Amino acid sequence: MKKVASIKSANIAAKNPAIGPNTGQDNLLRLTEGSLLQLHQRLQGMLDTGTLINRFFGWLSEQQLVDGIEYIHPDENLALSAGTKKHHKAHYVLRLEQHYLGEITITSQKRFIEQDLFTQEQSIGVLVHYLKNAIAHQALEKVAFHDSLTGVMNRTALDELLPKETKRAQRYGYNLSVLMIDIDHFKSINDCIGHMGGDVILQQVSQAIKSQLRNSDLPFRYGGDEFLLILPNTHLEGAHQAANQIMVSLNKAISVASDQTISPKLSIGVASYQHGESHEELIHRVDIALYDAKNNGRNCIV
Ligand code: GH3
Ligand code: MG
Repeated sequence: MKKVASIKSANIAAKNPAIGPNTGQDNLLRLTEGSLLQLHQRLQGMLDTGTLINRFFGWLSEQQLVDGIEYIHPDENLALSAGTKKHHKAHYVLRLEQHYLGEITITSQKRFIEQDLFTQEQSIGVLVHYLKNAIAHQALEKVAFHDSLTGVMNRTALDELLPKETKRAQRYGYNLSVLMIDIDHFKSINDCIGHMGGDVILQQVSQAIKSQLRNSDLPFRYGGDEFLLILPNTHLEGAHQAANQIMVSLNKAISVASDQTISPKLSIGVASYQHGESHEELIHRVDIALYDAKNNGRNCIV
C-alpha cells in the first residue's frame, strides 16, 4: 500500500514536539525528550544539506522507521537520497514560517502504522529548523563564490580551491592541469556591440566552456574576459584536447541583435602541475602560456 501523508508546515514548525501542546492524538506515543535531544545533537551545526539528510536518515533508521529517504528542493537544485528506496511511502511537504523548504519522501519495506507517521512528523519537526539554516547557508555560499553574470565560480572560490587541488596533486601524485582562457579583442567587441552585448558574449563563452566539462572540472571567471579551468586528474595532452573542444564548441556565430552576429575567438594557455611547485607558480606558468598564445597571433592554444 502506498501511504501518502502531507504535512502542513505550521503543524511541524510552530512547536517543539517535545514540549508542544497535545495534538489530540492521545493514543500515540510521543518521542521521549531524550531521543529528541539525541536527534538535535546529530543535526546541530550541520550546514551542508547532504550531511544533514544523511544524519537524519541515520537517526530514523536507528528508530527502525525507514529504509530510504529522498529529499528534493527544486528551487535550490537539491535532489538528495539516502538508504534504499522501498515500496511504502510517506511524503511530506516542508514549510517553516511560510517558507517552503522542500519535500521529503520516506520509504519503508514494511507498511507504516499511524504511530510511525506520528513519530516521523515529530522528527521532521526537528529537521526543518536545521534545514532552514543549511539552505540559507548554501544560498549565501552560492552568492559569495559565484560570478553573477556567467554563473561560474569567482576569484574568491578559486583562491580557496586551487591550493587544495595542488596540495592533493602533490600528496597523491595525481595529474592536474589548468587552462587560462581569454577572449580575443574583447574591447573591440564591446565597442562594436555595447557593454550589454559584450555581457551576452561572456555568457556564451562560459556556456561553451561549461558544455565541455567533466563533473570534476572546476570553471572560474578569473577577471573581465578571462576564465580559468582546473582539470583534476588530467595530464597535459588531455588538457590540450579539452582546450580544443572548447574552441570548437564556440566556433559559431552568436546572435547579439536581430541583424548582427559575432564570432568571438579565444586564446588559451595550458599548464600541468609539476611536482613540488606552488599554486602561484602554476598560475604564473599558465599565464605565460596565455601570453604566448596572444603573441602567436591569438585564436590558438599554447
Ligand atoms: P586581447 O585580445 O589582447 O585579450 O584584447 P582584449 O581587447 O580582449 O583586451 P583585454 O582582455 O585586456 O580586455 C578586456 C576587456 O573586457 C576590457 C573591459 O572593458 C571588458 N570587460 C571586463 N569586464 C566586463 C564585463 O563584465 N562585461 C563586459 N561587457 N565587458 C567587460
Ligand atoms: Mg581579451
